[in-house]
Amino acid sequence: MKKQIILATPRGFCAGVDRAIEIVEKALTQYGAPIYVRHEVVHNKFVVDNLRTRGAVFIEDLEDVPENSILVYSAHGVPLSVQEEAKRKNLKMIFDATCPLVSKVHNEIKNLYRNEYQIIMIGHKGHPEVVGTMGQIDGKIFLVETIEDIKLLPISFDCKKVAVVTQTTLSIDETKLIIEELKRKYIYLRLPKNEDICYATQNRQDAVKAIAKICDILIVIGSKNSSNSNRLKELAENLGVKSYLIDFADEISPSWLEGKFSIGVTAGASAPEILVEEVVNYLMKYDFCEIKNFPTIEEKMVFALPKELRF
Ligand code: SF4
Repeated sequence: MKKQIILATPRGFCAGVDRAIEIVEKALTQYGAPIYVRHEVVHNKFVVDNLRTRGAVFIEDLEDVPENSILVYSAHGVPLSVQEEAKRKNLKMIFDATCPLVSKVHNEIKNLYRNEYQIIMIGHKGHPEVVGTMGQIDGKIFLVETIEDIKLLPISFDCKKVAVVTQTTLSIDETKLIIEELKRKYIYLRLPKNEDICYATQNRQDAVKAIAKICDILIVIGSKNSSNSNRLKELAENLGVKSYLIDFADEISPSWLEGKFSIGVTAGASAPEILVEEVVNYLMKYDFCEIKNFPTIEEKMVFALPKELRF
């Protein structure tokens, strides 16, 4: 039996990540270094290190941004408090690299708040996207991470104005279960008009489901702080496939490959294709020479750059 590599498709960069990286790159070209970026522009070590060598400076606190600098918000979005602080500073330019699909959830939240809804958000506590989304209004948003958290919600079951939104990069299956439970508890629950979990998260999880049946193990290329990469690893494990999350090919242990014939490979939405190529080259050294692409859907999404950077 020939040893094979099964490539999940689609994998890697999504339209929001492409746009965020291009904003930093074009800002560097147009205005020169340093370009200050609040938080890692996307959660990928390779991408962030690369931009850093070109002159991007990643900061968490706006205190560290000197006057007259150029600032970029990361793809995860920022709370209003950060936007207000940035406006008070004497900055030359601010570019918002928040993914438009995250901004869509921000607008949903603001609309719900204006209409006096009690808002529940499904997401991971402390993740920058969740911090940014919950910080879009002055009022309270109730965070739910697991089904158990629903019991603790101080909202009455017959509340007529209760709505739920979600982080964009969650597990599709787990989120469905949480929403089902919320619907059981709240008869008037308002669901998002369109899904909040983004197309890229959905497609990458579907692609892993499609190859899981034919893989002995799955290698997920992505950084440890990447939410959607972690969900891909968890998904494979839930389907009974041992899975490893790695930043670089040299983290693969030869022992993972012993006695295996079929290695699945995917990449989170912030991991570039060059890292997939390095993993494939590494596996070929261990006689995994037959490479199969396993496409499930074609992606055509593209997001426009801010007008100042369209050149
Ligand atoms: S994973 Fe989804 S929400 Fe996040 S940047 Fe990509 S398209 Fe946007």
